[in-house]
Formats: sequence, C-alpha cells, structure tokens
Amino acid sequence: MERASSSTKSGKGKRPHVIVVPYPAQGHINPMLQFSKRLISRGVKATLATTVFVAKSMHLNQTSSTISVESFSDGFDQGGFGQAASDEDYVATFRAVGSRTLTHLIQRLNTSNDNDSDHDHNDRDPVTAVIYDGFMPWALDVAKDLGLVGAVFFTQSCAVNSVYFHVQRGLLPLPLTESTVLLPGLPLLRASETPSYVSDYGSYPAIYQMVVDQFTNVDQADYVLFDCFYEMEKQVVDWMAQRWRVGTIGPTLPSKYLDGRLEDDTDYVINLFEPSSDECMSWLGTKPEGSVVYASFGSMVKVSQEQMEEVAWGLEKTNFYFLWVVRADEEVKLPANFNRAGGKGLVVNWAPQLEVLAHPATGCFLTHCGLNSVVEAMCLGVPMVAVPQWTDQITNAKYVEDVWRVGVRAAVDGKTAARRETVEMCIREVMEVRRDELKVNAESWKGLARQALDEGGSSDLCINDFVAALL
Ligand code: UDP
Repeated sequence: MERASSSTKSGKGKRPHVIVVPYPAQGHINPMLQFSKRLISRGVKATLATTVFVAKSMHLNQTSSTISVESFSDGFDQGGFGQAASDEDYVATFRAVGSRTLTHLIQRLNTSNDNDSDHDHNDRDPVTAVIYDGFMPWALDVAKDLGLVGAVFFTQSCAVNSVYFHVQRGLLPLPLTESTVLLPGLPLLRASETPSYVSDYGSYPAIYQMVVDQFTNVDQADYVLFDCFYEMEKQVVDWMAQRWRVGTIGPTLPSKYLDGRLEDDTDYVINLFEPSSDECMSWLGTKPEGSVVYASFGSMVKVSQEQMEEVAWGLEKTNFYFLWVVRADEEVKLPANFNRAGGKGLVVNWAPQLEVLAHPATGCFLTHCGLNSVVEAMCLGVPMVAVPQWTDQITNAKYVEDVWRVGVRAAVDGKTAARRETVEMCIREVMEVRRDELKVNAESWKGLARQALDEGGSSDLCINDFVAALL
C-alpha cells in the first residue's frame, strides 16, 4: 500500500514521518489509522503508536497494510482500562506514564533511525510530527518538548467539540440553567440533546474532565484535524476555522467503500474483537434485499439490562430479520428465553460492520450512534434507528434525525430506556413508512462523502494542505 515517491525516499529529501497516537479504543484507532493510510499514500511515513495492552491484544490484518505499529505504556500493560482502579486512575496514570513512555518511544525511533543506515523498515526518516488524539492533550507537550509539529485529531463531531470548547472556556457554564443551548454554527439544542456529561453534569467526572480538557492547549496545536467532511458540518467548521488551522479529513472508512483510490485499503486492519465474519456474511447472503435490521451498540457502551431486554423484544416484535452484535461481556443481559440464533435473528459477539452495512440485505441500522457507526451508515447509504446511550451519542442522534435526516430517534421513557413498542415503531418507520425518503437522504450523503475524498474534493484538499504543512 505504501507508495512513497522515490525523490522523497532517497538522498537529501527525507520524508516527513508522523507518529499517530490514538486513544486506545476501537472507535479512536479506526479513524486515525485510516488517516495514516491517506498520509502514506501521499509519501509521508506514518507510525501508529498504541498502548502495550492494545498492541498485545489486537488482531492485526497484516495482509492489507504495511503500516508500522509501535507501542508505549499507559501504565496498565496487563489489562488496559480494565486494569485501572477507576476512570480517574486511568486518565491520570495514562497522562503521567504515557508522557514519559511516548517520549522514549519517539527518541528510540529516532536513535534507531540514526544508527541503522541499512534498515529499510524505518527508512532513516526521523519523526517530525505527532498527530495525537484530542483525548490526550498531554501528547502536544511531548511533541513540543521534542521540537516536533503537533496536530490534534478529534474523533468526535465538530458540534460536540464545539460544546466542550464552550464549556472549557467558561462560555457555557454548567450545570445548564436554560432548557436550550444555542452555539455558533449549531442548531438549537435542547439541554437533553447536549452530550451526557454536559446535560447530566457531575456524571462520570473524570471522563467529563478529559473531554473538556481537550481544549486546554488546542490554541498551541499547529493543526486541528476533524474526522468528518466539510459538507457534514459546514457552519461549525467555518466557525472553528476562524480560530485554528483546521482540516476536515474524513470520512475515514477504508477507501474501498469511498473513492477507491487507495489500493488494498479494504478494512480497518486493527480489530480489538474477533469478528464472526463468515457466519454473518453467509447468513446475510440468504436474506432478501433490504430485509435485515443490523443492530449494534459499538465497542464500549454498557447497555442497561432493561434497555437490552427492550431492544431484544422490540426486534422480535417487528418480525424482520435481525443481525445483532452483543459483545461477549454484555451477553449475560440478554433475556433468558430470547432465541438468539433461531427464528429470524442472529446474535454475534462482533461483526464485520462495514461489510454488513454494505450488504444489499441490510435495510436499517439500529445504532448507539458512536460517530464512526453513524458516518459508516451515511457513507454506505443505510438509514438508522438511533438508540443513543450516553456521551456524544446523544448529540449525534439529534444530527441523525434533524440535521442529516437519515434516521429516527427512539424516544426514551423517562430517564431509563427506549421501550420495546418504541423500538418496534422506529424500526417500522425506517424499514417501511419512511423507507424511500430516508434511503434517498442516506444515498445523497453517500455521494457527498465520496466526492469529499475524490480528487479535488473538500477532504482531499484538506489532506493535501496538511501534507504540505508537514513538508
Ligand atoms: N464495529 C465493528 N464490528 C462491530 C461493531 C462495531 O467493526 O460488531 C466497529 C465500527 O465499524 C466502528 C467501531 O467499531 O468503526 C465503533 O466505533 P463507534 O464510534 O461507532 O462506537 P464506539 O465503539 O466508539 O462507542
């Protein structure tokens, strides 16, 4: 896949070498790794740096990429986040240990490059820039202390980032006192449509602090990258572009599903869970076009037992075929008498999501609205039933229904769960009642996403600008 030009590979003109540092979670690794592939295709050397625990436990599809992966310690080499005593412990230890070990990693890469003149793997290109996840603002200090360029990469939507920015700068005081929030470039949000750490101020204090702290030093970053494409969030991107040198570089699905310009870029390469690919795809292969509801709550969220049961019975009540991802650690919450592999449903622990969404049998995506899942559905033209649980998913669901108009939100009963009748009604709305309208909208986003990454498209130009800045 790596196609560096010979002029940058040889002699005086060394390639820029970026070290890309995602937060160690599937939804953060995927977009940053995909962006790395775009950089590699433009002659930049990219090294993905992840934590020791993730590096040990991930499934790496070696066949589809030559990207190099290095590891550094977050202080929890045996169990990652699960090994920490609390959210506070993880965030604080990651900052303290990660600052040191990331610095050592970069120094080691540069030393081995200096000493190892024949070593083609590192190609003697010293690290010139750090592209770090917004969740880890301390990585900018690492970059600056080493005299490197620092670019922050935000994996949440610009709208969500804008909310956190306003909170961090004291422009949106918490707890919210009004029933609505109006910020530049965003639609009027009900308080309940802001990210959960904002609407439910005081919940998950360490994670709240982490998302707000993304903006403590953003003014010192040399570049601010967003995992969206301009057309998705024009107004708020324009507003942000007045403050920082921004680039909208998404969507970050493998090229195969978008512009097709990167040879061999067919999957996300790193899986933290093992997908049941054959089982899913052969099952889907027997189903008629547009007949299947695909359901997933992503890689992290812990769904309440109550919500899990309501979704289970809601799916069954529709009488549509359904393919439901229930992670192994969540399976215990399935109702005891729920038929998980008979009737019209198939439950698996992890699916090849992109292949599933791209399959003609898939008619609708019941999603927790993690940003990757939402964007993947938009890029593959699949309308959604939004069942957000917490964090940015709440605001993403608002956008799915009211801004991008590619789905419906399942209303929550009181503060607890979307009921089975609501789940059923929303699925019928997407699969039957509003099927044509939502499908047309989703298809139109699919077209815009492809254009954005195609030659001369908005994201293509932003990536070129970023590479020029590296040079
Ligand atoms: N995913 C997958 N298989 C699954 C469920 C999810 O490959 O069975 C991928 C999905 O394609 C997406 C990522 O995992 O790229 C989840 O990211 P998202 O932002 O949607 O949610 P998160 O897991 O961060 O809550």
